[in-house]
Amino acid sequence: MLLYGRVETMTEAGQVEAVYLEGDRIADVGSLQDLSARYPGAKKQFFEQITPGLHEAHAHPQMWGLQLDSLDLEGLTDPQAVAQQVAEKARALPPGGWIRGGGYLFRAYPTRELLDAAAPHHPVFLQSRDRHSGWANTRALEQAGITAQTPDPPGGVLVRDAQGQPTGYLLEAAQELVQRVMPKPGLAELERGLHDLARRGYTAVHHMGWCHFSLAEQLAESGRLPVRLWWALDRDHWREARPGWRGDSLEIAAVKFFADGALGSRTAWMVEPYPDGSHGLALDALELILSEGRAALEAGLGLVVHAIGTRAVQGVLEVFHQLQPISRRIFRLEHAQHVRDAELARLAGLNLALSLQPMHLLGDAELVRFHLKGQEHEAFRLRDLWKTGLPVAFGSDAPVMKPLYELNLQAATQHPLNPAQSLTPAEVLWAHTRGAALAAGWPQHGQIRPEAPADLTLWENGRPVGRVFRGGLEL
Ligand SMILES: [Zn+2]
Repeated sequence: MLLYGRVETMTEAGQVEAVYLEGDRIADVGSLQDLSARYPGAKKQFFEQITPGLHEAHAHPQMWGLQLDSLDLEGLTDPQAVAQQVAEKARALPPGGWIRGGGYLFRAYPTRELLDAAAPHHPVFLQSRDRHSGWANTRALEQAGITAQTPDPPGGVLVRDAQGQPTGYLLEAAQELVQRVMPKPGLAELERGLHDLARRGYTAVHHMGWCHFSLAEQLAESGRLPVRLWWALDRDHWREARPGWRGDSLEIAAVKFFADGALGSRTAWMVEPYPDGSHGLALDALELILSEGRAALEAGLGLVVHAIGTRAVQGVLEVFHQLQPISRRIFRLEHAQHVRDAELARLAGLNLALSLQPMHLLGDAELVRFHLKGQEHEAFRLRDLWKTGLPVAFGSDAPVMKPLYELNLQAATQHPLNPAQSLTPAEVLWAHTRGAALAAGWPQHGQIRPEAPADLTLWENGRPVGRVFRGGLEL
């Protein structure tokens, strides 16, 4: 198969006209005239732009798969409108199946009767946009064993009517009473999430936790992986896993730790305090990341650490510096959202990839201005981080954000906080292809050159419209 158009090779060759594929490998690149002459029998296809296959460098595909099957109630403020969506979903779902959803914001707490009328034969549980409250119907309350006698759990409230009966509205930790009886996501959700990413033109996904690796192994063993999967294990069960490749589509590659929380909940761990005097939260203690990280490295795995706040970034870089002598793989710093000048200087000399999600800026710019007034220059330092020369990889953190390439393109090329920190469209593409492949430790990927795997993304009007995966064309 011969594909031609604007071919971005991500190699010294730069832009070429055509690429020739043989089986699941790239066999040749060059001008259309040369390749047509060399492979006269090849089937030819034109695409406006052809790039190495896109990587989604930070995602939770099982959670994304779960979200795809949930009602998207974003923007709804009227409980009646929400109930109408629930009723539609109920008509399409066999009785007894759970209806999930989230994203609404109400002025007053609605009651379960509205949901009972919409879905009398299904348990329903919906969450507000900030996830701090939930709305259940009677079936869901019954399955959770919630009655008038159920006490409010610590940190939570069951909203009740004048007779003391739970109304179906649950605040904060009370939501867990329902959530713990809901079916856990499984293989179907992982597969759904991965297939959705494949449809969006991604050929590789870096899995960042919250799913058991045995599910990915099942998909790999039965040849059902629709993308190449780079897998970071959750830290509580990494010792059960055998590091390395399963076939050529799944690599059990690393262990993931969380050095802190997130800015929106003021749990990002900061050197300078928030306006209320707090500094955020350290989640996995640095001593634990050091000791468990050492054990993981010795077992042949890599190390991935979530660090959003300045203090978390500072601490994690110290850990990386200490562990570097025994590491055989590239370290990964996930998010690196707030970085001081002192830490920028500490990046030099580390074998480290920076895994960033510029699209968070689209929602977080306001939060930064509010929570970190005067320190805006330390937030999302895309250009400064780029200038370190370390591999930069872009992802979405789906389901936190939708895995849309154009959101990273928009946020990174038009930095909402500091235009001088913007990147070019070509750099964004690099971070989603070559940069991400280097961050995975897959040097043969993310480029269009002879012998590289035939994983390509195909574009029209600046958007992915299809892909080539293992040499197979999918439009
Ligand atoms: Zn994440």
